[in-house]
Amino acid sequence: MQYPVDIVCYQCTIVLPVLDTPVAHTAWWRFMDEHAYHPVEILWEHSEARERIDIDYIEVDSDISSDPSLAEYAGDEWTGRPLALHPRPVARAVAEVVLRAQEAMDAHEWRAAPADAAVAVGIVQSMDFAPPPGETVDAAAVLARSAAVEAARERLHQAAAEPVGGDFGALLKELLLALPSPADLPVDELIAESGPLASPRLWDAERALRLIQHLVDGITLR
Ligand SMILES: [Zn+2]
Repeated sequence: MQYPVDIVCYQCTIVLPVLDTPVAHTAWWRFMDEHAYHPVEILWEHSEARERIDIDYIEVDSDISSDPSLAEYAGDEWTGRPLALHPRPVARAVAEVVLRAQEAMDAHEWRAAPADAAVAVGIVQSMDFAPPPGETVDAAAVLARSAAVEAARERLHQAAAEPVGGDFGALLKELLLALPSPADLPVDELIAESGPLASPRLWDAERALRLIQHLVDGITLR
């Protein structure tokens, strides 16, 4: 949901609507306290900076169920807070790649090949990612989620070997470079870092895959 005025923290990748209600005031003061020394910006209705907001951002009071309500953000009931506000370097790196690809598509500079759509459908079907930040995990859940991340990475790897167009192929290679390798995400370390919430590194990779899924979904429609 987009409000006429929002405030964004680019470091924590969170957007808060600025509204004139008691709970919104409490949320605003919490935001000021939490992000005072971070790169924050007021977004007006037609601010160009809105284009920098992608689906990896946490949007308070959005209609996405994993995002907090204003009351959850203002209070202490948002169990996912420590994970959601943790920096996500992989997701940010992937967001840069995704943004460039989207710009090329919007400018009609993207040359699609006949095989692109079918390969894109295959990728999207193998991805279902980024559980809510507040979801508690045990070792079995971390194991399953890390296996799913690895399977998606492997699927992207296979797709890069298909006869896709030059632009799609280059995009897949860039995305694979931005994503962590299996050696970067050792399962024993992920399990040790998790509990009750998921490991920040794991969730970062899951959110990055979510961005990729969103972009690749657009390719299937072309
Ligand atoms: Zn912040």
